[in-house]
Amino acid sequence: MDTQRVRQIIHVDMDAFYASVEQRDRPELRGKAVIVAGDPKARGVVSAASYEARKFGVHSAMPTAQALRRCPHAVLLPVRMERYAEVSHAIQSIFERYTPLVEPISLDEAFLDVTACTNLFGSAERIGRAVKGQIASQTQLTASVGVAPNKFLAKLASDLKKPDGFVVITEQNKQEILDPLGVGRIWGVGKVTETALHSRGIRTIADLRATPEVELRDLVGNGATELLRLARGEDDSEVEAARQAKSLSSEQTFATDVSDPVILLAVLLEQVEEVAQRLRRRRLKARTVTLKLRYGDFRTVTRSETLGEATNLTQVLWETAERVFRQWQQSASGALRLLGFGATGLESQEAGQATLFPDPQAEKLERLDRAMDAIRDRYGRRAVHRGNRPAE
Ligand SMILES: [Mg+2]
Repeated sequence: MDTQRVRQIIHVDMDAFYASVEQRDRPELRGKAVIVAGDPKARGVVSAASYEARKFGVHSAMPTAQALRRCPHAVLLPVRMERYAEVSHAIQSIFERYTPLVEPISLDEAFLDVTACTNLFGSAERIGRAVKGQIASQTQLTASVGVAPNKFLAKLASDLKKPDGFVVITEQNKQEILDPLGVGRIWGVGKVTETALHSRGIRTIADLRATPEVELRDLVGNGATELLRLARGEDDSEVEAARQAKSLSSEQTFATDVSDPVILLAVLLEQVEEVAQRLRRRRLKARTVTLKLRYGDFRTVTRSETLGEATNLTQVLWETAERVFRQWQQSASGALRLLGFGATGLESQEAGQATLFPDPQAEKLERLDRAMDAIRDRYGRRAVHRGNRPAE
Protein backbone atom coordinates (compact mmCIF):
# COMPACT_ATOMS: atom_id res chain seq x y z
CA MET A 1 0.00 0.00 0.00
CA ASP A 2 1.19 3.49 -0.83
CA THR A 3 1.60 5.04 2.59
CA GLN A 4 3.27 8.12 1.16
CA ARG A 5 0.07 9.46 -0.32
CA VAL A 6 -1.49 12.12 1.85
CA ARG A 7 -5.22 11.75 1.76
CA GLN A 8 -7.69 14.53 2.28
CA ILE A 9 -10.81 13.23 3.96
CA ILE A 10 -13.89 15.09 5.11
CA HIS A 11 -16.43 13.64 7.52
CA VAL A 12 -19.83 15.30 7.63
CA ASP A 13 -22.22 14.53 10.46
CA MET A 14 -25.59 16.29 10.63
CA ASP A 15 -26.51 17.59 14.09
CA ALA A 16 -29.46 15.79 15.75
CA PHE A 17 -30.61 15.13 12.20
CA TYR A 18 -34.19 13.78 12.46
CA ALA A 19 -35.06 16.18 15.28
CA SER A 20 -33.53 19.13 13.40
CA VAL A 21 -35.53 18.30 10.27
CA GLU A 22 -38.71 18.31 12.37
CA GLN A 23 -37.78 21.65 13.97
CA ARG A 24 -37.06 23.12 10.57
CA ASP A 25 -40.33 21.86 9.07
CA ARG A 26 -42.33 23.08 12.06
CA PRO A 27 -40.94 26.43 13.25
CA GLU A 28 -43.12 26.34 16.38
CA LEU A 29 -40.85 23.49 17.61
CA ARG A 30 -37.61 25.49 17.36
CA GLY A 31 -35.89 25.94 20.69
CA LYS A 32 -38.04 23.20 22.20
CA ALA A 33 -37.23 19.72 23.45
CA VAL A 34 -38.17 17.41 20.57
CA ILE A 35 -37.92 13.64 20.65
CA VAL A 36 -38.34 11.59 17.48
CA ALA A 37 -39.16 8.09 18.62
CA GLY A 38 -41.24 4.95 18.42
CA ASP A 39 -44.45 4.59 20.40
CA PRO A 40 -43.71 4.25 24.15
CA LYS A 41 -46.63 1.83 24.49
CA ALA A 42 -45.07 -0.46 21.90
CA ARG A 43 -41.69 -0.36 23.67
CA GLY A 44 -40.41 2.11 21.10
CA VAL A 45 -36.96 3.70 21.32
CA VAL A 46 -35.63 7.19 20.66
CA SER A 47 -34.32 7.73 17.12
CA ALA A 48 -33.19 11.31 17.70
CA ALA A 49 -33.44 14.04 20.32
CA SER A 50 -33.01 17.79 19.86
CA TYR A 51 -30.22 19.42 21.85
CA GLU A 52 -32.87 20.95 24.11
CA ALA A 53 -33.97 17.39 25.03
CA ARG A 54 -30.42 16.07 25.34
CA LYS A 55 -29.83 18.48 28.22
CA PHE A 56 -32.21 16.30 30.20
CA GLY A 57 -30.19 13.17 29.49
CA VAL A 58 -32.26 11.95 26.57
CA HIS A 59 -30.27 10.14 23.90
CA SER A 60 -30.91 7.88 20.94
CA ALA A 61 -31.62 4.17 21.46
CA MET A 62 -33.10 4.98 24.90
CA PRO A 63 -36.61 3.55 25.47
CA THR A 64 -39.17 6.24 24.66
CA ALA A 65 -40.91 5.77 28.00
CA GLN A 66 -37.68 6.45 29.88
CA ALA A 67 -36.95 9.50 27.71
CA LEU A 68 -40.36 10.95 28.56
CA ARG A 69 -39.73 10.42 32.27
CA ARG A 70 -36.50 12.39 31.99
CA CYS A 71 -38.02 15.11 29.86
CA PRO A 72 -41.81 15.10 30.39
CA HIS A 73 -42.39 18.39 28.56
CA ALA A 74 -40.76 17.14 25.34
CA VAL A 75 -42.74 17.09 22.10
CA LEU A 76 -42.85 13.46 20.98
CA LEU A 77 -42.93 12.91 17.23
CA PRO A 78 -43.08 9.76 15.10
CA VAL A 79 -40.21 8.85 12.78
CA ARG A 80 -40.80 10.20 9.24
CA MET A 81 -38.11 8.24 7.46
CA GLU A 82 -39.20 9.22 3.95
CA ARG A 83 -38.84 12.88 4.82
CA TYR A 84 -35.35 12.40 6.29
CA ALA A 85 -34.31 10.35 3.25
CA GLU A 86 -35.44 13.20 1.01
CA VAL A 87 -33.35 15.75 2.92
CA SER A 88 -30.45 13.28 2.97
CA HIS A 89 -30.56 13.07 -0.83
CA ALA A 90 -30.34 16.84 -1.10
CA ILE A 91 -27.26 16.80 1.16
CA GLN A 92 -25.75 13.92 -0.81
CA SER A 93 -26.02 15.93 -4.02
CA ILE A 94 -24.06 18.77 -2.39
CA PHE A 95 -21.24 16.28 -1.67
CA GLU A 96 -21.30 15.06 -5.26
CA ARG A 97 -20.58 18.56 -6.57
CA TYR A 98 -17.08 18.10 -5.16
CA THR A 99 -16.22 14.41 -5.39
CA PRO A 100 -17.65 11.10 -6.58
CA LEU A 101 -15.88 9.40 -3.66
CA VAL A 102 -18.65 9.66 -1.09
CA GLU A 103 -19.24 6.90 1.44
CA PRO A 104 -22.59 7.32 3.16
CA ILE A 105 -22.57 5.80 6.65
CA SER A 106 -26.20 6.57 7.37
CA LEU A 107 -28.78 9.15 6.30
CA ASP A 108 -26.98 11.84 8.29
CA GLU A 109 -23.31 10.96 8.03
CA ALA A 110 -20.78 10.49 5.22
CA PHE A 111 -17.09 10.40 4.38
CA LEU A 112 -15.78 12.32 1.35
CA ASP A 113 -12.37 11.68 -0.19
CA VAL A 114 -11.39 14.99 -1.79
CA THR A 115 -7.72 14.17 -2.39
CA ALA A 116 -8.07 14.30 -6.16
CA CYS A 117 -10.20 17.43 -6.35
CA THR A 118 -8.14 19.96 -4.38
CA ASN A 119 -6.62 21.22 -7.65
CA LEU A 120 -10.07 22.11 -8.84
CA PHE A 121 -11.74 23.40 -5.66
CA GLY A 122 -8.93 24.43 -3.34
CA SER A 123 -7.81 22.87 -0.08
CA ALA A 124 -9.80 20.22 1.77
CA GLU A 125 -10.50 22.79 4.48
CA ARG A 126 -11.96 25.12 1.89
CA ILE A 127 -14.12 22.33 0.42
CA GLY A 128 -15.25 21.37 3.93
CA ARG A 129 -16.32 24.94 4.66
CA ALA A 130 -18.12 25.18 1.32
CA VAL A 131 -19.99 21.93 1.96
CA LYS A 132 -20.99 23.05 5.44
CA GLY A 133 -22.11 26.45 4.12
CA GLN A 134 -24.16 24.96 1.29
CA ILE A 135 -25.85 22.49 3.63
CA ALA A 136 -26.82 25.43 5.85
CA SER A 137 -28.09 27.62 3.03
CA GLN A 138 -29.93 24.89 1.14
CA THR A 139 -31.42 22.89 3.99
CA GLN A 140 -31.35 25.36 6.93
CA LEU A 141 -29.68 22.57 8.92
CA THR A 142 -26.33 22.50 10.66
CA ALA A 143 -23.65 19.90 10.12
CA SER A 144 -20.49 19.20 12.07
CA VAL A 145 -17.54 18.75 9.75
CA GLY A 146 -14.13 17.21 10.30
CA VAL A 147 -11.23 17.52 7.85
CA ALA A 148 -8.20 15.26 8.24
CA PRO A 149 -5.63 13.10 6.46
CA ASN A 150 -7.63 9.91 7.16
CA LYS A 151 -11.08 8.60 8.05
CA PHE A 152 -10.39 7.91 11.71
CA LEU A 153 -9.18 11.46 12.34
CA ALA A 154 -11.89 13.05 10.17
CA LYS A 155 -14.62 11.34 12.15
CA LEU A 156 -12.97 12.26 15.41
CA ALA A 157 -12.66 15.87 14.20
CA SER A 158 -16.34 16.20 13.30
CA ASP A 159 -17.24 15.09 16.81
CA LEU A 160 -14.91 17.44 18.72
CA LYS A 161 -16.96 20.65 18.49
CA LYS A 162 -20.46 19.30 17.93
CA PRO A 163 -22.98 20.85 17.17
CA ASP A 164 -22.17 23.16 14.26
CA GLY A 165 -18.51 22.25 14.56
CA PHE A 166 -15.67 22.61 12.08
CA VAL A 167 -12.35 21.05 13.05
CA VAL A 168 -9.28 20.48 10.94
CA ILE A 169 -6.75 17.87 12.02
CA THR A 170 -3.44 17.82 10.19
CA GLU A 171 -0.31 15.68 10.32
CA GLN A 172 1.21 18.55 12.31
CA ASN A 173 -1.44 19.00 15.01
CA LYS A 174 -2.85 15.46 15.22
CA GLN A 175 -0.81 14.23 18.16
CA GLU A 176 -1.53 17.27 20.27
CA ILE A 177 -5.28 16.82 19.63
CA LEU A 178 -5.26 13.06 20.19
CA ASP A 179 -3.06 12.81 23.28
CA PRO A 180 -5.40 14.25 25.95
CA LEU A 181 -8.46 12.30 24.68
CA GLY A 182 -9.70 9.19 26.45
CA VAL A 183 -8.83 5.81 24.91
CA GLY A 184 -12.56 5.20 24.36
CA ARG A 185 -12.42 7.73 21.50
CA ILE A 186 -10.40 5.30 19.40
CA TRP A 187 -12.21 3.36 16.70
CA GLY A 188 -13.12 -0.12 17.84
CA VAL A 189 -12.37 0.46 21.51
CA GLY A 190 -15.58 -0.62 23.18
CA LYS A 191 -16.44 -0.76 26.86
CA VAL A 192 -14.62 -4.08 27.40
CA THR A 193 -11.32 -2.92 25.92
CA GLU A 194 -11.65 0.47 27.59
CA THR A 195 -12.09 -1.14 31.00
CA ALA A 196 -9.15 -3.46 30.38
CA LEU A 197 -6.95 -0.51 29.42
CA HIS A 198 -8.12 1.53 32.42
CA SER A 199 -7.25 -1.36 34.72
CA ARG A 200 -3.61 -0.92 33.63
CA GLY A 201 -3.75 2.82 34.14
CA ILE A 202 -4.00 3.51 30.40
CA ARG A 203 -6.61 6.28 30.27
CA THR A 204 -5.61 8.75 27.60
CA ILE A 205 -4.33 8.26 24.08
CA ALA A 206 -0.99 9.64 25.31
CA ASP A 207 -0.89 6.84 27.93
CA LEU A 208 -1.67 4.32 25.22
CA ARG A 209 1.04 5.62 22.90
CA ALA A 210 3.57 5.31 25.71
CA THR A 211 2.66 1.66 26.36
CA PRO A 212 5.02 -0.93 24.84
CA GLU A 213 3.33 -3.12 22.23
CA VAL A 214 4.23 -6.33 24.12
CA GLU A 215 2.35 -5.08 27.15
CA LEU A 216 -0.69 -4.20 25.05
CA ARG A 217 -0.63 -7.66 23.50
CA ASP A 218 -1.43 -9.10 26.93
CA LEU A 219 -4.58 -7.03 26.92
CA VAL A 220 -5.82 -7.01 23.35
CA GLY A 221 -3.78 -9.65 21.50
CA ASN A 222 -3.17 -8.93 17.85
CA GLY A 223 -5.27 -5.80 18.07
CA ALA A 224 -2.29 -4.11 19.76
CA THR A 225 -0.57 -3.05 16.53
CA GLU A 226 -3.71 -1.46 15.12
CA LEU A 227 -4.49 0.23 18.42
CA LEU A 228 -1.05 1.83 18.52
CA ARG A 229 -1.35 2.97 14.92
CA LEU A 230 -4.66 4.67 15.66
CA ALA A 231 -3.15 6.22 18.79
CA ARG A 232 -0.55 7.78 16.48
CA GLY A 233 -3.36 8.98 14.21
CA GLU A 234 -2.54 6.53 11.43
CA ASP A 235 -5.31 4.90 9.41
CA ASP A 236 -5.18 3.53 5.86
CA SER A 237 -8.82 2.67 5.34
CA GLU A 238 -10.30 3.84 2.07
CA VAL A 239 -13.41 5.88 1.50
CA GLU A 240 -15.63 3.36 -0.23
CA ALA A 241 -18.08 5.04 -2.53
CA ALA A 242 -21.46 3.31 -2.62
CA ARG A 243 -20.86 2.11 -6.15
CA GLN A 244 -17.54 0.56 -5.21
CA ALA A 245 -18.54 -1.13 -1.96
CA LYS A 246 -16.78 -4.47 -1.77
CA SER A 247 -18.60 -5.70 1.26
CA LEU A 248 -21.30 -4.73 3.70
CA SER A 249 -21.19 -5.91 7.26
CA SER A 250 -22.53 -5.48 10.73
CA GLU A 251 -20.86 -6.54 13.93
CA GLN A 252 -21.38 -6.31 17.62
CA THR A 253 -19.01 -6.39 20.56
CA PHE A 254 -20.59 -7.76 23.71
CA ALA A 255 -20.23 -6.15 27.12
CA THR A 256 -19.46 -9.61 28.51
CA ASP A 257 -18.46 -12.66 26.46
CA VAL A 258 -21.46 -14.66 25.20
CA SER A 259 -21.62 -18.41 24.66
CA ASP A 260 -25.40 -18.98 24.60
CA PRO A 261 -26.27 -19.92 20.98
CA VAL A 262 -29.81 -18.59 21.38
CA ILE A 263 -28.49 -15.11 22.11
CA LEU A 264 -25.83 -15.32 19.42
CA LEU A 265 -28.39 -16.37 16.80
CA ALA A 266 -30.72 -13.56 17.84
CA VAL A 267 -27.90 -11.06 17.35
CA LEU A 268 -26.93 -12.69 14.06
CA LEU A 269 -30.49 -12.44 12.74
CA GLU A 270 -30.59 -8.72 13.46
CA GLN A 271 -27.30 -8.29 11.65
CA VAL A 272 -28.52 -10.27 8.64
CA GLU A 273 -31.69 -8.18 8.47
CA GLU A 274 -29.71 -4.95 8.65
CA VAL A 275 -27.16 -5.94 6.01
CA ALA A 276 -29.85 -7.37 3.72
CA GLN A 277 -31.76 -4.10 3.87
CA ARG A 278 -28.61 -2.10 3.12
CA LEU A 279 -27.93 -4.36 0.12
CA ARG A 280 -31.43 -3.74 -1.22
CA ARG A 281 -31.16 0.00 -0.68
CA ARG A 282 -27.98 0.07 -2.72
CA ARG A 283 -29.46 -2.28 -5.32
CA LEU A 284 -26.74 -4.84 -4.66
CA LYS A 285 -26.66 -8.59 -4.24
CA ALA A 286 -24.07 -10.66 -2.40
CA ARG A 287 -22.55 -13.95 -3.39
CA THR A 288 -20.69 -14.79 -0.19
CA VAL A 289 -21.78 -14.79 3.41
CA THR A 290 -19.12 -14.49 6.12
CA LEU A 291 -19.36 -14.78 9.87
CA LYS A 292 -16.69 -13.16 12.00
CA LEU A 293 -16.22 -14.71 15.42
CA ARG A 294 -13.90 -13.25 18.00
CA TYR A 295 -13.22 -15.10 21.21
CA GLY A 296 -12.64 -13.58 24.62
CA ASP A 297 -8.88 -13.78 24.06
CA PHE A 298 -9.19 -11.75 20.81
CA ARG A 299 -8.54 -14.77 18.60
CA THR A 300 -10.65 -14.10 15.52
CA VAL A 301 -11.90 -16.63 12.99
CA THR A 302 -14.09 -16.24 9.93
CA ARG A 303 -16.39 -18.81 8.37
CA SER A 304 -17.86 -18.34 4.91
CA GLU A 305 -20.17 -19.90 2.42
CA THR A 306 -20.49 -18.88 -1.20
CA LEU A 307 -23.91 -19.17 -2.77
CA GLY A 308 -24.66 -20.51 -6.24
CA GLU A 309 -26.32 -17.25 -7.09
CA ALA A 310 -25.99 -13.76 -5.62
CA THR A 311 -28.91 -12.64 -3.49
CA ASN A 312 -30.24 -9.87 -1.28
CA LEU A 313 -33.18 -11.86 0.07
CA THR A 314 -33.17 -11.79 3.88
CA GLN A 315 -34.49 -15.34 4.06
CA VAL A 316 -31.72 -16.81 1.89
CA LEU A 317 -28.97 -14.83 3.64
CA TRP A 318 -30.33 -15.83 7.04
CA GLU A 319 -30.57 -19.54 6.20
CA THR A 320 -27.00 -19.45 4.95
CA ALA A 321 -25.73 -17.52 7.98
CA GLU A 322 -27.48 -19.90 10.35
CA ARG A 323 -25.99 -22.91 8.56
CA VAL A 324 -22.49 -21.42 8.75
CA PHE A 325 -23.04 -20.66 12.44
CA ARG A 326 -24.16 -24.24 13.21
CA GLN A 327 -21.15 -25.64 11.37
CA TRP A 328 -18.81 -23.42 13.37
CA GLN A 329 -20.55 -24.48 16.55
CA GLN A 330 -20.01 -28.17 15.81
CA SER A 331 -16.29 -27.72 15.38
CA ALA A 332 -15.58 -25.10 18.02
CA SER A 333 -16.63 -23.81 21.35
CA GLY A 334 -15.93 -20.85 23.54
CA ALA A 335 -17.54 -17.59 24.49
CA LEU A 336 -17.52 -14.78 21.95
CA ARG A 337 -16.70 -11.16 22.57
CA LEU A 338 -17.67 -10.18 19.03
CA LEU A 339 -19.98 -11.54 16.38
CA GLY A 340 -20.21 -10.13 12.89
CA PHE A 341 -22.04 -10.85 9.67
CA GLY A 342 -20.67 -9.75 6.32
CA ALA A 343 -21.85 -9.94 2.72
CA THR A 344 -19.13 -9.92 0.04
CA GLY A 345 -18.84 -10.69 -3.65
CA LEU A 346 -21.21 -7.84 -4.34
CA GLU A 347 -22.78 -7.30 -7.70
CA SER A 348 -25.40 -4.97 -9.05
CA GLN A 349 -28.95 -6.16 -8.54
CA GLU A 350 -29.59 -5.55 -12.22
CA ALA A 351 -26.73 -7.81 -13.31
CA GLY A 352 -28.52 -11.12 -13.11
CA GLN A 353 -32.04 -10.02 -13.84
CA ALA A 354 -32.52 -11.42 -17.31
CA THR A 355 -34.08 -14.58 -16.03
CA LEU A 356 -36.39 -16.42 -18.39
CA PHE A 357 -38.21 -18.34 -15.73
CA PRO A 358 -39.15 -16.16 -12.79
CA ASP A 359 -39.00 -18.04 -9.52
CA PRO A 360 -42.35 -17.67 -7.73
CA GLN A 361 -40.78 -18.47 -4.34
CA ALA A 362 -38.13 -15.77 -4.81
CA GLU A 363 -40.78 -13.29 -5.94
CA LYS A 364 -42.78 -13.98 -2.81
CA LEU A 365 -39.71 -13.40 -0.64
CA GLU A 366 -38.94 -10.18 -2.53
CA ARG A 367 -42.43 -8.88 -1.79
CA LEU A 368 -41.98 -9.79 1.87
CA ASP A 369 -38.63 -7.95 2.02
CA ARG A 370 -40.13 -4.88 0.35
CA ALA A 371 -42.96 -4.83 2.87
CA MET A 372 -40.57 -5.24 5.81
CA ASP A 373 -38.25 -2.51 4.46
CA ALA A 374 -41.19 -0.13 4.14
CA ILE A 375 -42.30 -0.82 7.71
CA ARG A 376 -38.79 -0.41 9.10
CA ASP A 377 -38.24 2.80 7.15
CA ARG A 378 -41.40 4.15 8.66
CA TYR A 379 -41.23 2.84 12.20
CA GLY A 380 -37.56 2.11 12.78
CA ARG A 381 -35.30 -0.87 12.44
CA ARG A 382 -36.63 -2.75 15.43
CA ALA A 383 -40.27 -2.49 14.39
CA VAL A 384 -40.54 -5.93 12.80
CA HIS A 385 -38.66 -9.14 12.85
CA ARG A 386 -38.93 -12.44 11.06
CA GLY A 387 -41.21 -15.05 12.56
CA ASN A 388 -38.26 -17.39 12.91
CA ARG A 389 -36.40 -15.02 15.20
CA PRO A 390 -34.91 -17.22 17.89
CA ALA A 391 -36.41 -16.81 21.34
CA GLU A 392 -34.52 -14.39 23.57
MG1 LIG B 1 -25.55 12.97 13.32
